[in-house]
Amino acid sequence: MMDVYDLAETWTRDHIEQTQITRFKTTIERASTCEFYRKRLADAGVTPENFKSLDDVRRIPFTTKQDLRDTYPTGLLTVPKSEIVRMHCSSGTTGTPVAICHTANDINWWSDLMARCMYMIGVRKEDVFQNMSGYGLFTGGLGIHYGAERLGCLTIPAGAGNTKRQIKLALDFHTTVAHILPSYALIVGEKLREMGKDPKDFPLRIALVGAEPYTEEFRKRLESLFAMKVYNSYGLSEMNGPGVGFECLEQNGLHIWEDAYYPEIVDPKTGEPVPDGTIGELVMTTLCRQGMPILRYRTRDLTRFLPGDCPCGRKHRRMDRILGRADDMMIVKGVNIYPMQIEQVIMTFEEVGKNYLIVLENDGYGDVLRVKVEIRDEFFIEDVRILRKLQQKIAHALKDEILVTPQVELVESNSIPLAEGKAVRVQDLRKKK
Ligand code: AMP
Ligand code: ZN
Repeated sequence: MMDVYDLAETWTRDHIEQTQITRFKTTIERASTCEFYRKRLADAGVTPENFKSLDDVRRIPFTTKQDLRDTYPTGLLTVPKSEIVRMHCSSGTTGTPVAICHTANDINWWSDLMARCMYMIGVRKEDVFQNMSGYGLFTGGLGIHYGAERLGCLTIPAGAGNTKRQIKLALDFHTTVAHILPSYALIVGEKLREMGKDPKDFPLRIALVGAEPYTEEFRKRLESLFAMKVYNSYGLSEMNGPGVGFECLEQNGLHIWEDAYYPEIVDPKTGEPVPDGTIGELVMTTLCRQGMPILRYRTRDLTRFLPGDCPCGRKHRRMDRILGRADDMMIVKGVNIYPMQIEQVIMTFEEVGKNYLIVLENDGYGDVLRVKVEIRDEFFIEDVRILRKLQQKIAHALKDEILVTPQVELVESNSIPLAEGKAVRVQDLRKKK
């Protein structure tokens, strides 16, 4: 059966760009019906009529997270509240939340985009899909759930945690596809081992892994642990949630569904576009959302457009995996370091277990970078000399990558507390002083 989910995937560049122009006009018109954008767009002199080519995008002012906070809860609605059927929040932990509201049609679009992602990597209605991520306000729950149902999969809304039950459900229903956060995936693997089972015998053949940054080294580890394929899934609540960018079978960059979102990559300092291949901040516009359109949203996520065509044939542009958030950069002894540089190094050591934590302190003389690393039980032996050697090896490898010598601390499994929801990788104790 020809499926509807790959229709927009076969569009040519020209068709994608023509559609973007048309949808930009509609979005500008729609956005202008709320006070906030009416003023913003009027000040910038942007109207649907004078938006003629994609070069005009740059005339539209950026929208920031602060703007979304200032207009909380319903200041950006462009339909009567009675037309809204669902709201979600982004996972920020402090301050006024950011809430995004959807009409029934918005939910429909979102479900289709998510189904398109899953279809692209070979998920079919015969699959059993288990959503191992939190539900509630987090978009990785219902967002992916609706996509899986749209495809016709038997969908198990397992939620996050309760790993034993998670494993039982997967074994009883023969789960073939799962959505799982990187920080939780290794925990499931470890639990299986504890139960005397080889994760390779687990029925999973595909995992959608996203919502937080992870490295290629992490992906490799996960794929070999479970003998499955791992595909990167990117999204953010402000752009609905998952279903914005997704890897194809090539596993080389994430296709952005440009018929629904307009992506740009800009220099985070100047806001000017950077050339393809150069890292910058991702900026996104919703092109199809009715209830609450958002124009040129500064995501703070750092990535780059991958130059060239994807061998899969899709013409939708690809972005690199998220390399970090502009806010994540740590300055340690004057050197800029991203947490993912540290993960990239430590995940190459087979002794390293499922969790790690970066702690920044000031010892009165200067910055101290501590990296706490959980070691798998079978390697956590009593011979201190062997552990010390491993500690030095990890410290050297890290120094080569980040140019700062860290204090590496090897700790037992389960000694680093797990975050609820998205992982907390950095604790900056310097700020509290
Ligand atoms: P939220 O809206 O709370 O779900 O958070 C969205 C944020 O999660 C994004 O802006 C990214 O910083 C992060 N995120 C989502 N998916 C990924 C991914 N595949 N890789 C890295 N970071 C991601
Ligand atoms: Zn591709």
